[in-house]
Amino acid sequence: MKEKDCIFCKIANGEIPSATIYEDPDFRVILDLSPASRGHALILPKNHFADLCSLDERTAEKVLSVAAKIGAAMKKSLNCSGFNVVQNNGTAAGQTVFHFHVHVIPRYDNGPVMVAWEPGKASAEELAEVANQIKGELQ
Ligand code: 5GP
Ligand code: ZN
Repeated sequence: MKEKDCIFCKIANGEIPSATIYEDPDFRVILDLSPASRGHALILPKNHFADLCSLDERTAEKVLSVAAKIGAAMKKSLNCSGFNVVQNNGTAAGQTVFHFHVHVIPRYDNGPVMVAWEPGKASAEELAEVANQIKGELQ
């Protein structure tokens, strides 16, 4: 299941060359063209899914173990101290390519600095209200 004009479909299936670091029947893992840090990688399923909510079960079951494999290899080969696993869904969340992908971003003790979210505040009542809103949809 591929989408005709999708750049990540073409990269994942080898129609467009990429710096590939890992490949198996379901995924290709490539280096990001605009890396946040040295070694920033993208896990691309070979099939097209727009985002996390559209993933099939097979891909969903496998993708985190691929991320773990890549992260462990980065720690050994690049000597990074850790790594972030990031996955954006929707424009508001920073998704720019609408073919599901997972970022694996090596983190080094000497930077670069990356901005995370600022922890906010919420009362117990507010947390209970939000929890009920989401739970209502899950039942
Ligand atoms: P998103 O913002 O959708 O989560 O991430 C898209 C990522 O894909 C960005 O980090 C961007 O640099 C990367 N990217 C976009 N087009 C290409 C491309 O053609 N080749 C590679 N290797 N990375 C790309
Ligand atoms: Zn695609």
